[in-house]
Amino acid sequence: MVKRAPLKLAKILLAVALLGAALALPLTARAQGDGDNLPTYVVRPGDTLSDIAFAFGVDVRALMAANHITNPNSLRAGQTLVIPGLEGVTGRLIVQKTAFGDSLFSVGRALHIPAHKLARLNHLVSPFQFYAGKPIVVPESAKPAAGERLLLGDESLLDAALRSHQSVWALVFANGLHARWDAIPGDVLIAPAGNGAKGALSAFPSGFAATLKPREWVQGRTGEVVLSAKGAEKVVGEFDGEKMPFFRWKAKPNGWVALKGIHALAEPGIYPLSLTVTLADGRSFGFAQAVRVVAGDYYYEKLNVPPSLLNPELNRKEERFLEQKTAAAMPQRYWEGKFAPPEKPPFSDCHPSYFGARRNYNSGAFFWYHTGLDFCGRVGTPIYAPAGGKVVFVGKTEIHGNVTIIDHGWGVYTLYCHQSAALVKEGQTVHKGDLIGKVGRTGRVTGPHLHWEVRVDGMPVDPQEWLDRVFP
Ligand SMILES: [Zn+2]
Repeated sequence: MVKRAPLKLAKILLAVALLGAALALPLTARAQGDGDNLPTYVVRPGDTLSDIAFAFGVDVRALMAANHITNPNSLRAGQTLVIPGLEGVTGRLIVQKTAFGDSLFSVGRALHIPAHKLARLNHLVSPFQFYAGKPIVVPESAKPAAGERLLLGDESLLDAALRSHQSVWALVFANGLHARWDAIPGDVLIAPAGNGAKGALSAFPSGFAATLKPREWVQGRTGEVVLSAKGAEKVVGEFDGEKMPFFRWKAKPNGWVALKGIHALAEPGIYPLSLTVTLADGRSFGFAQAVRVVAGDYYYEKLNVPPSLLNPELNRKEERFLEQKTAAAMPQRYWEGKFAPPEKPPFSDCHPSYFGARRNYNSGAFFWYHTGLDFCGRVGTPIYAPAGGKVVFVGKTEIHGNVTIIDHGWGVYTLYCHQSAALVKEGQTVHKGDLIGKVGRTGRVTGPHLHWEVRVDGMPVDPQEWLDRVFP
């Protein structure tokens, strides 16, 4: 592990150097014998002018002017547009959707376009801008190279060539290397396959696949990375500088899953996600990509409660306490399928307040958000376990009243607050549908209800998502 760090730094420095060079080098996209004309794009069904302008990084008005378009609705599929603002580029261009696992380098290598030229074509000034799902512009004539993706260990290119039954020079040419000693441990090389084999853009070695669910992560919701990695012994992840634990998912061969709770007040934007896979044979593979976090659709609400309970120090103390109780991530998973609502009809669909609401207490500033989903109910309405788990806390708190916490494994917890009675004990195993407590009005409340929380990797997330969809 210690030896990986300088390698990563070297890659970053290389990226910076290449992108620096990008500003000075001309680019020629060879295609279709268009000579020295401006590059072109053929409109596809469903394209809008603003989509096209966004994909090519040009202003809509500049795009309209270059094509003498006065009415943006006059665009039709099959129409050829010239693309301004790409001096030195010629030929026909297409827009390709990238997936999680594609990088500027892997796409460049697969399409035989140097990374700095690809960066220039896409107006990228940093590899960080190559986020998962980004549409990228490539020459139409460029087709992804087919072949096995070889993960290099501490071996020479010659050894790698022997392992894949290739000549060294075939590897050198297929991967745009400058020389035989150009490949470094951890690099993923294309071992060219014969005609007819399907090409790929991914940076992952053969036998690996990763999916980001959903493709863009949302404030206050649960982000998921599903990885299959043949031969993996250990996977560690990091999101925005924080550890993101991966767990073995036994239902899928070579399956691993990481779940990440996104803060409800996280600034929308792009965030770095990285993972490092260590194989049983000692080779390791590292990958980093930016992931988009978009705004959730949350509303504002005003509440009045006894001023004595708004003590910020008390709030912080209680939050720290709940954080401690929900911090550990158990490698065993106790749930299967969707979670069930913790109350039965007619209360199961009745919510006095939703997750994520920006809250204003006693006419103060909007300073906090609602960390759970509230369910209606009377004092004594039964509460049921939404999924299997282990009870890790039962006790009384000042703000949340009588609280029960269930650990469902993989860093997923549920919390039951303001109860009139808790009917389970710490250490007890519960199953989906077990009676665990009764609705009450203990703690900081305006009336009887159940405040239900789902916490993932220490972060409160929208519980509705756990009722609506299956994780993983
Ligand atoms: Zn609540």
